[in-house]
Amino acid sequence: MIKIGVLSLQGSVEEHLDLLDKIPEVTPLPIKKKEEFKDLDGLILPGGESTTLSKLIHIFEIRKNIIKLAQQGIPIWGTCAGMILMAKQIHGQKNSHLDLIDITVRRNGYGNQLASFKTKAIIPKLSKQKIPLIFIRAPYITEVNSNVEVLLEIDDKIVAVEQNNLLATSFHPELDDDLTVHQYFVQKIKQNIN
Ligand code: GLN
Repeated sequence: MIKIGVLSLQGSVEEHLDLLDKIPEVTPLPIKKKEEFKDLDGLILPGGESTTLSKLIHIFEIRKNIIKLAQQGIPIWGTCAGMILMAKQIHGQKNSHLDLIDITVRRNGYGNQLASFKTKAIIPKLSKQKIPLIFIRAPYITEVNSNVEVLLEIDDKIVAVEQNNLLATSFHPELDDDLTVHQYFVQKIKQNIN
């Protein structure tokens, strides 16, 4: 079985666990304590509120554990606030959080009027079908380093990227029942195990 942890401090944890549960061979695990990071094949950092999540990561003293997984090449996927946690640069903020992926993000990038919306798009590397994309007070990516692969841009805004074992999406695939992105993440994990 493939063990995928979902950081369960705050945010859309249950939704990720429920979708992962539908994929054969996957054991979804809610993770928050240091000792729970052992033996994970992959980790999801869910959407929520990045400042709160970052504080909780410090309170639970698990920052190093997450960074270690990333350094070991274990696939990590951040959705929305999870993407903000992973970014090396955040507009208007001096410090980043986990400092994992070579991107600059703009928090709440869509402003108030368009704060939350749903659209559909094809992510060519993932599938040939359009998939639903839900954005909730979402960040978007303004800059990527040359070692980052852009997976999707919508209206000139980068909203999905990959850098080796790291995956980040501005939107929330866990809030719909389409499994495409979760399945892609599982495939990434399988490639890493083999
Ligand atoms: N705007 C939130 C933040 O800055 C992210 C929103 C989300 O995860 N849906 O953390």
